[in-house]
Amino acid sequence: MNESDRKERIRQNYLSVVDEVAVAAQASGRQPSDVTIVGVTKYVDAATTADLVDAGCGSLGENRPQVLWQKAESEELKDQPVQWHMIGHLQRNKLRRLMRYAPMIHSVDSRRLLEAVAKEAGEIDQAVDVLLEVNISGDDAKTGLSPDALLELLQEDRGPLVRIGGLMAMAGMGTDQGAARKQFADVRMLRDKLAASTGNPLANLSMGMSGDFKEAIAEGATLVRIGSRLFDGVL
Ligand SMILES: *Cc1c(COP(=O)(O)O)cnc(C)c1O
Repeated sequence: MNESDRKERIRQNYLSVVDEVAVAAQASGRQPSDVTIVGVTKYVDAATTADLVDAGCGSLGENRPQVLWQKAESEELKDQPVQWHMIGHLQRNKLRRLMRYAPMIHSVDSRRLLEAVAKEAGEIDQAVDVLLEVNISGDDAKTGLSPDALLELLQEDRGPLVRIGGLMAMAGMGTDQGAARKQFADVRMLRDKLAASTGNPLANLSMGMSGDFKEAIAEGATLVRIGSRLFDGVL
């Protein structure tokens, strides 16, 4: 596929996702602008990632910190106004370089990581937006925090630089859309409960991917992390 065909295909993919997100939002009485599409670009290089930005997608998600910063520093993207999102497992020793690009960190999945983020934010005197990753399936093998651990972390004071803005969740592997919707509903109810008991509104819910974003929006997702759909026909 040549460069201009690729660019056009990505633009069409993005616009159709924008439409579907808007329809899903309206169907559940919400505004399209209540839902941010985070384009997950882990499948493609910096040039193809830039095609998605040119199509209008200003929020990009990566699951590996090194790739996020390499792209943020690349010729193709360094001057683009991108809001970065870190959506995958993060090691503490990667935080410093990552935080130069002020990503929203969706994948805070342990107390140790949250404490390291707080420490780093203090050292560089920069606020950081984070989401706490929930283990919804209750599966020990999965990453994410249990409901009890979430409550405990939310009751602690970490100062104004660490802004815990909500929860992130992934439906279990191989979950069908009906079961995924049920899991997303559980996340929303957990959020409502935690918000009531801690006073933190936890306004953001990061849930839903290419295969289940409509279900997630129906259950209140404010950030949908969409990858493969955007690169249909390109990969
Ligand atoms: C890859 C990935 C996505 C996007 O998945 P698609 O099915 O390609 O849309 C979303 N969230 C996380 C954490 C991912 O790693």
